[in-house]
Amino acid sequence: MTLQNKTALITGSTSGIGLGIARKLASKGASIVLNGFGDAKEIEAIRIAIENDYKVKAFYLPADLSSEHGVDVLFERTQGFCDGFDIIVNNAGIQHVSPIENFPAEKWQLIQDLMLSAPFHIIKRALPYMRKKSWGRIINIASVHGKVASVNKSAYVAAKHGLIGLSKVVALETAQENITCNSICPGWVLTPLVEKQVDLRAGKDGLSWDDAKNALLAEKQPSGEFAKPEEIGAIVSFLCSDDAAQITGSELTIDGGWTAQ
Ligand code: NAD
Repeated sequence: MTLQNKTALITGSTSGIGLGIARKLASKGASIVLNGFGDAKEIEAIRIAIENDYKVKAFYLPADLSSEHGVDVLFERTQGFCDGFDIIVNNAGIQHVSPIENFPAEKWQLIQDLMLSAPFHIIKRALPYMRKKSWGRIINIASVHGKVASVNKSAYVAAKHGLIGLSKVVALETAQENITCNSICPGWVLTPLVEKQVDLRAGKDGLSWDDAKNALLAEKQPSGEFAKPEEIGAIVSFLCSDDAAQITGSELTIDGGWTAQ
């Protein structure tokens, strides 16, 4: 399977799962558009490493996707080097953990804007190009929290449930156009987003970092292991293949048994 001549936008790909996906798609020959926050020198090193390791083009488009304006900035910055995206991976995300009575309204809004509205605005802008090419792959990185809930994660759980719904609608609206839209639902993956939750747990329960990490896994993920960013990348890569042409409107779960319980 080759993704040569395809351009993939992966939002939030300066670290964690997004970076694992970017590297996997690059390994299949896709040109890569990175996006996300971080230290400029580190991001440039990531970009150059992708070009060198996989002999593909890699670009970095900075844009804060927590507003429609930020999404416009992202699309304006593509001008001059690519006409549109063949593959979209909506991955950028954050977490905030708090009981609902204390949940800051601005955090609620930020999570909806980044993790539900940004995918909507991006898909809306990306579809005309995919329709012109009669080919497209849209992959939304949801979560087990798009299917089940956990305490203290009201905004995140609501946004991820919404994202799975959005994916299904897009799948139906594109069903006969050689465009697919699916969600991936990871359980725990050890990335900066989860490291912060391990920090919180260690502080709250007076545990060492390793004990807090193991407690987090033991509570939800029967395998007792984290999924890896490159494993999420492998699912994205499969969804981009011809073999996956009839998979649309689905949720693919990679959670070590979390939601089987
Ligand atoms: P991460 O913190 O490593 O990466 C998040 C990425 O999003 C970074 O590149 C960051 O710069 C970017 N980002 C944050 N705010 C942004 C903004 N306003 N505009 C543009 N980019 C922004 O986290 P991760 O764990 O790799 O999470 C990636 C996705 O996977 C998220 O949507 C998350 O909800 C989902 N997810 C993660 C896990 C997990 O266990 N780590 C499990 C299920 C789902």
